[in-house]
Amino acid sequence: MAPERLLNDRLAGFGETIFAEMSALATRTGAVNLGQGFPDTDGPAIVAEAAIAAIRAGHNQYPPGIGIAPLRHAVAGHQQRFYGLEFDPDTEVLVTAGATEALAASILAFCEPGDEVVTFEPWYDSYGAVIAMAGAAKRVVTLRPPDYAFDPDELRAAVGPDTRMLLLNSPHNPTGKVFSRAELAALAELCVEHDLIAVTDEVYEHLVFDGDHLPLAMFPGMADRTVTISSAGKTFSFTGWKIGWACGPAPLVEAVRTVKQYLTYVNGAPFQHAVAVGLDLDDDYFRELVAAMRAKRDLLCGGLAAAGFDVFEPAGTYFVTTDIRPFGTDDGRAFCLGLPERCGVVAVPNVVFYDNTDEGRHLVRFTFCKQTSVLEEAIARLGTLA
Ligand code: PMP
Ligand code: GLN
Repeated sequence: MAPERLLNDRLAGFGETIFAEMSALATRTGAVNLGQGFPDTDGPAIVAEAAIAAIRAGHNQYPPGIGIAPLRHAVAGHQQRFYGLEFDPDTEVLVTAGATEALAASILAFCEPGDEVVTFEPWYDSYGAVIAMAGAAKRVVTLRPPDYAFDPDELRAAVGPDTRMLLLNSPHNPTGKVFSRAELAALAELCVEHDLIAVTDEVYEHLVFDGDHLPLAMFPGMADRTVTISSAGKTFSFTGWKIGWACGPAPLVEAVRTVKQYLTYVNGAPFQHAVAVGLDLDDDYFRELVAAMRAKRDLLCGGLAAAGFDVFEPAGTYFVTTDIRPFGTDDGRAFCLGLPERCGVVAVPNVVFYDNTDEGRHLVRFTFCKQTSVLEEAIARLGTLA
């Protein structure tokens, strides 16, 4: 039987992720990989040591289904410290296998076939796949450069009688947009008016350079209808540990947990102990993280502009989107496939994050979560393009 006949119809068209494809291209060609977003240095030693200590202390069997108590308390403490949000660590916090699983379990928990999920494009790649797994449909509202504001009329038009959920990513990958207070207030009003569940992907919450990260759950009417998702991957630079969490009112978290227990059941027992230590680090850690990343943002944005790209400086995340049309092409995918050979750098074509592919055809994303020397090398190579 041909392999393509094995995959169920709902997932037809979902092939290898762009991140896997582009990282493989980087490995094959020896190019500098500014495609997939993962840091090339480890996170804090104290957190890594806590994982090693947890293994040595024998935390190596299944943890509780909702996550170990110290981590649930640390997550609740973090939400209170940074946002003044109160969650009961025993009923309103769920530990997951990364934000990816929290997102999947939430969408699968709340969506019936025929339901619609409203989200912004460009979207993070797992959203479409999981919405499809649930048999639901994605309705997108386009964020357009240079400021990636959305058109309120387009948003209103996307919401209809079948809309079940607003799925929001802020700070936003790949644009680097940080949704403003006014935008979030408008989204909250819409959710209340249409009785929507909100699921928010806040994995870049600590990588904000301009403005503030505001969880949607803080807005009027949202606390009892929002599942707030984040993970340790970006905040502590341990993307391979896959420890995430979902916070929300007990009935919503209970529903997400019901799905989660049949996806992975549990994961990462020793890493859960370590992430609890990370979340309790003092404010200096979080300040230094963002300061270091801001310097990298400025370095790469300057280098890309000097190389001839139109650069949309990101307010958050560790990605910068560029317009490649100054190079005489609007085909971002072909541009990225040719880039390793032309100058030894790998980037990601944003078009893969769009339903309306014309909107993203000419856009290309670079990550700056790499050592300064690596960014400098990439900039030197990109400088030979023009
Ligand atoms: N959401 C967004 C917007 C992301 O960029 C990522 C990538 N890391 C994830 C979710 C997945 O997070 P995790 O690795 O914790 O599953
Ligand atoms: N979130 C990362 C990115 O956008 C990749 C994560 C993954 O490969 N699934 O680059």
